[in-house]
Amino acid sequence: MDEFALINRFFSRRIARTDVIAGIGDDGAVLSPGAGLEQVQVIDTLVEGVHFPPDTRAQDIAWRAVAVNLSDIAAMGARPRWMTLALTLTNSSEAWLESFAAGLFAAADEHDVALVGGDTTYGATLVVTISISAELHPGTALLRSGAKPGDTVFVSGTLGDAAAGLSLLQQQAGDDWLTTRFLRPTARIDTGLALVGKATAAIDVSDGLAGDLRKLLDASGVGARIDIEKIPLSEALCNRFDTARRHQYALSGGDDYELCFTAPAAAVAGVPGITAIGIVTDTGRLEFFLHGDVVEVDNSGYRHFS
Ligand code: ADP
Ligand code: MG
Repeated sequence: MDEFALINRFFSRRIARTDVIAGIGDDGAVLSPGAGLEQVQVIDTLVEGVHFPPDTRAQDIAWRAVAVNLSDIAAMGARPRWMTLALTLTNSSEAWLESFAAGLFAAADEHDVALVGGDTTYGATLVVTISISAELHPGTALLRSGAKPGDTVFVSGTLGDAAAGLSLLQQQAGDDWLTTRFLRPTARIDTGLALVGKATAAIDVSDGLAGDLRKLLDASGVGARIDIEKIPLSEALCNRFDTARRHQYALSGGDDYELCFTAPAAAVAGVPGITAIGIVTDTGRLEFFLHGDVVEVDNSGYRHFS
């Protein structure tokens, strides 16, 4: 199949959004940004064998590629609108592309994001790059830099599920719920939007809580004290793993794509799906406590699989 036919068949479809003047098919997309709004632009690349196992289903690769971008948008407190897709294919089996497009549009449609362009190439390794544009009201972006001593530290959802799910995938010891948390992360767009004007700083948890919270604290010039027993864990994680492993996955495992943010506790009292796990301090240090005792946490947070 030539590139033109491939794009037409799998990626070009009617766009309902009225802010897309010209989408796929011209030399560039023509878009109509909302008057008086600020723009947030994010981009993320997934490389086969590095960011997902080689046998991952096409629909899950596509979902994940959209979700990791949406997660960055969520952490900024913005509303996503348009995306572009750069695809390096190693083969173009129609069944694979069909599945890929299904996962791509399923993830995009959840947040009414239109695919407005892209690029298609062939290479030695499958590489998927997605870029998403989002909008927000001027001055309302959730930055990493606003945390203040005395703020409470929160996370959305539950932590550690994706790392646990990946380990189960690698052992082929499937737990559907946990592996789905790895393969199909949920971008917390609604939570991000609900935090605008309330949270003082935010980041998405892609490389593990310890490492990502450290980035937020550094950007804000503050420290934090985290009570490990307060970190929300799923029933599935607790059923499958002992306490030490749960904590390892929750603190240092990656790929959860939950939000970690700081706010005065009263400001976010009505926001659903969030849990307080600690407090911002003026020490500059990130300290972990387990039932009141200090514990060491490896905060590299980054985990390769091979
Ligand atoms: P050009 O040679 O001008 O860069 P292309 O032939 O690469 O144009 O692309 C033709 C059209 O198809 C453009 O509108 C481009 O944005 C779109 N496109 C190409 N690849 C993809 C893709 N993987 N997903 C979505 N749109 C794509
Ligand atoms: Mg091109």
